[in-house]
Amino acid sequence: MAVERTFSILKPDATERNLTGAINAMIEKAGLRIVAQKRVRITKEQAEQFYSVHKARPFFGELVEFMISAPVVVQVLEGEGAIARYRDVMGATDPSKAADNTIRKTHAKSIGENSVHGSDSPENAAIEIAQFFSGNEIVG
Ligand code: GDP
Repeated sequence: MAVERTFSILKPDATERNLTGAINAMIEKAGLRIVAQKRVRITKEQAEQFYSVHKARPFFGELVEFMISAPVVVQVLEGEGAIARYRDVMGATDPSKAADNTIRKTHAKSIGENSVHGSDSPENAAIEIAQFFSGNEIVG
């Protein structure tokens, strides 16, 4: 399987509860390398752009307000099949449906405040990485 990069966000509910290290340990235990990472407060415009695919959904406003409510940690993860692998480690969107030992089962508070984001395709991974990192900030 090819080495890929995926984009990750540790969401406000995770940073607020001081879970950056605990979640990073789960990421690394799954064989993914954190090749770029920074803690930022995203703007409303960035959040709206990032989640624009969900613009028509009833939870869009709530999602944007949540994402700007506290700092987030944005990351680039690298590894074999990193996109699918990270989705596996994250678990289902709704933590009550997530498998045991996944990040969301272990840490998420609700379907909205679900601790992590991970890209769902190579195309979106490339777009999302470019939204937050320049090439020389990613060191594999
Ligand atoms: P993901 O790829 O597993 O993150 O899930 P989606 O792409 O379907 O949704 C993006 C994000 O929107 C999720 O991670 C949640 O933070 C949020 N979200 C999804 N469904 C709901 C919902 O029913 N209610 C609320 N409040 N937020 C939701």
